[in-house]
Amino acid sequence: MQVQIYDTTLRDGMQGEGMSLSAAEKVRVAHRLDELGVDLVEAGFPSSNPKELELFSLLERETFDHAQIAAFGMTRRRDAGASDDAGLRLLADCFAPVCTLVGKTWSLHLEKVVHVDREENLRMIAESVGFLVEQGKRVVYDAEHFFDGWRDDRDYALACLRAAAEAGAETVVPCDTNGGSLPPAIDEAMRDVVAELGSSGVQLGIHCHNDAECGVANSLAGVRAGARQIECTVNGIGERAGNASLEEVVMAMKVRNDVLPFWTGVDATMLTRASKLISAATSFPVQYNKAIVGRNAFAHESGIHQDGMLKHTQTYEIMTPESVGVKQTSLVMGKHSGRHAFVHKLKELGYELAANQLEDAFVRFKTLADRKKHVYDEDIEALVDEEIATAQDRIKLVSLSVIAGTRGPQRATMKLDIEGKTMIEECDGNGPVDATFNCIKALVPHEATLELYQVHAVTEGTDAQAEVSVRLAESGRSVSAKGADPDTLVASAKAYLGALNKLIIRRQRGNLEALVVAERRTHSTEVV
Ligand code: MN
Repeated sequence: MQVQIYDTTLRDGMQGEGMSLSAAEKVRVAHRLDELGVDLVEAGFPSSNPKELELFSLLERETFDHAQIAAFGMTRRRDAGASDDAGLRLLADCFAPVCTLVGKTWSLHLEKVVHVDREENLRMIAESVGFLVEQGKRVVYDAEHFFDGWRDDRDYALACLRAAAEAGAETVVPCDTNGGSLPPAIDEAMRDVVAELGSSGVQLGIHCHNDAECGVANSLAGVRAGARQIECTVNGIGERAGNASLEEVVMAMKVRNDVLPFWTGVDATMLTRASKLISAATSFPVQYNKAIVGRNAFAHESGIHQDGMLKHTQTYEIMTPESVGVKQTSLVMGKHSGRHAFVHKLKELGYELAANQLEDAFVRFKTLADRKKHVYDEDIEALVDEEIATAQDRIKLVSLSVIAGTRGPQRATMKLDIEGKTMIEECDGNGPVDATFNCIKALVPHEATLELYQVHAVTEGTDAQAEVSVRLAESGRSVSAKGADPDTLVASAKAYLGALNKLIIRRQRGNLEALVVAERRTHSTEVV
């Protein structure tokens, strides 16, 4: 039996701390998810800000082979005036054939947070779902805090689902919004839901967060009890501890098909590539020991395990690396490789670049190949990901030289291109990284604080490229960026500047956001 994969990387995934993607990057991610074979791509929340609206107008012009695009919104009162109704109208007018509405199911939340009485909440659900169904939309109802609500008052939580189903929702989705449920409770609650709605013909989904590290286990428990759609994200990104991870739910059903006799449309050999793209685009690293897509997921360190692996791979692996698209690190190219080979390699790695980006990337590849004897796939990925991420940057690094060593203070000289103007600065610091960052602060004064600075090597060897991650925080919100270079200090400067560029874009977006705040003012901004 098939289980639909409803991907919410671009909506719930983006609600994670430090996540931000431009509309163009989101379009690129949506194509990758389509190639991966997911059934639905929840691309965003059109009424949340004008950038999201712009995203949907970009997506409308794209063609997807398999995936349906879904737009996210909230249940609204239809009789509360024009501003309240605007969110639903935006969804109705949006091209997306599927609309997902989140609504309340937990009486505690109704009383303490949104101050809406129970009857009125049921009416909001029925009216909002009914309105979008009338407009020809396929409607998914995300029942926020369903499992908490079910523990407190089963009848009311179930009544909320029934209201959505009776109003014409195609799928109703109990959500473990707080991520604190355990599989036995999910099983019991979902069986209750099946008993309540089983005869209505409505499809059931499941949406789980990972706060108790049970997001995947809970999603699978939901499927065993009757859910036929899983809402999940690539790399498990999402608010707080994240959402159920797409690659893990897909592979669990594949590897243990004996006890989970379900299949999905996902091409598992694309999982690694999708994971890398999301990680690169968001500058959000994947934990090393993460199942399926972590860099240690197929690494065997102990002698006994290595011996077993050499004799028979199934002795210590439940799946092969190839089955999820892990390729052996291969020596790909060097300084004699030409443009044709480079284009071919990019295609093999899954990149499609515009002509000018391709030209820039090729120049950077040649520079790297001059400095580094062996250029691996990972080097090219780091280089191209950076090329794509920095295409829109307002501030660019022109040059950097640093004096480091045992005799301080360390000193950096930096040249930046700031919106077409070249500026230079020289600063001391407590170490070369501090001196480098002091130059940026002097050239581009800002209030942001450095929350995270992390270095790792892209490949092995002392001539490997350094990949630096930087997270900056400003006014309670943070952004992350990565930079790669054989010189760790240059990579550090690129990463810091990347984050600063994102902050600048975010500030501009903030100004636009002020224009639509009125639409949201009366509602809680919390979403499932
Ligand atoms: Mn959620």
